[in-house]
Amino acid sequence: MKTILVTGGSGFIGSHTCLALLDFGYNLVVLDSYINSSVIALKRVIGLSKTQKQSAQNTLHEVRGDIRDYKLLSKVFVEAIKNNAPIEAVIHFAGLKSVEESVREPLLYWNVNVEGSRNLFRVMDENNCRTIVFSSSATIYASSTDNLLTEASELKPCNPYGKTKLAVEELLRDLFENSENNWRIANLRYFNPVGAHSSGEIGESPLEKPNNLFPYICQVAIGSRKQLQIYGSDWPTPDGTGIRDYIHVMDLAEAHSAALEYLFSKQSKLLNLNIGTGKGTSVLELVKTFEKVNGCKVPYVFSARRLGDVSKTVANNQLSIRTLAWEPSRSLSDICRDGWRWQMLNPFGYSERTH
Ligand code: NAD
Ligand code: UDP
Repeated sequence: MKTILVTGGSGFIGSHTCLALLDFGYNLVVLDSYINSSVIALKRVIGLSKTQKQSAQNTLHEVRGDIRDYKLLSKVFVEAIKNNAPIEAVIHFAGLKSVEESVREPLLYWNVNVEGSRNLFRVMDENNCRTIVFSSSATIYASSTDNLLTEASELKPCNPYGKTKLAVEELLRDLFENSENNWRIANLRYFNPVGAHSSGEIGESPLEKPNNLFPYICQVAIGSRKQLQIYGSDWPTPDGTGIRDYIHVMDLAEAHSAALEYLFSKQSKLLNLNIGTGKGTSVLELVKTFEKVNGCKVPYVFSARRLGDVSKTVANNQLSIRTLAWEPSRSLSDICRDGWRWQMLNPFGYSERTH
């Protein structure tokens, strides 16, 4: 059984991916600072894992810490070697992800996302671990209004968050092209990950007011927010609202185990892959599907366009389907049903709040 280090593994995408990886049979070490996540998430992951509860506990080891901490990271790698379970690959989720915050705090974003990643890659290299799946983002593409985005589309992030993601991809390319050693690298460019595990036990738990559409819809539907503001009704789209490619978080999670398997089968590789469904959904279509599937109301008003928004972002996902033998299998209705189940069972996310 291979041991994988998952940085940021208690977060939204990380926790769902840990479940997929445990069920795939990997041994996990999860490193997280819990700056944007709860210790409850991975306890629930262990409870949900198909492996016996006891054995899942044995295969998921949690370390509280920061990816910028060189000594701690080195210790994690060295201890794994001592325990005869050397870390053979890293899935690197840890980082900060708010576009808006990145505009206010570019130094912080470059420090955590870029310097933290550089520190991680240095420790990996020193410990002969050169297989990595990196959480990149569709925000690195130049905004386009027409076609589906392919991996060859122009790269031109327009905010500090996107720029840090592109910088890490470039650093990984430098390692791949210039290192004497063989690196195996998959940059997964996520489109819009949403929804929750079908049990409703794990899901997205924003600590503050959500910036993203799907968690906002859930909070309006449950009554903790009055109404949704739809940013713009005059976009050049069929119904005038913005179009995105919403992918079920479990489909995204499964892309990570597929990417790992693919990398393990190669000597050396650099992959850039779009992880999306290839289908565009407008804000109004998402609201209507959510209402229909869940039999609830999502009151909304139209407001001005959000600064920096684009009309349409949809993946061409053919390369990832061909390369990974993976395909998203869950529908928009599944996304709405599972996301709502999580919201109903956990009205305050993982927090204990009762008001
Ligand atoms: P998240 O905030 O839920 O998870 C990130 C995790 O990293 C959290 O548990 C947080 O506590 C941890 N973390 C943050 N800084 C850390 C540090 N310095 N050291 C150790 N741990 C740290 O976010 P998510 O939605 O699960 O996203 C995971 C990754 O995917 C991020 O890198 C994000 O940029 C990327 N991504 C997310 C989306 C999205 O829409 N959610 C889209 C594209 C890319
Ligand atoms: N959106 C909206 N109201 C909100 C949040 C988002 O109308 O409260 C719209 C936004 O303009 C975009 C779509 O929903 O067209 C998806 O936004 P999100 O922030 O979830 O994803 P991103 O824009 O980062 O792809």
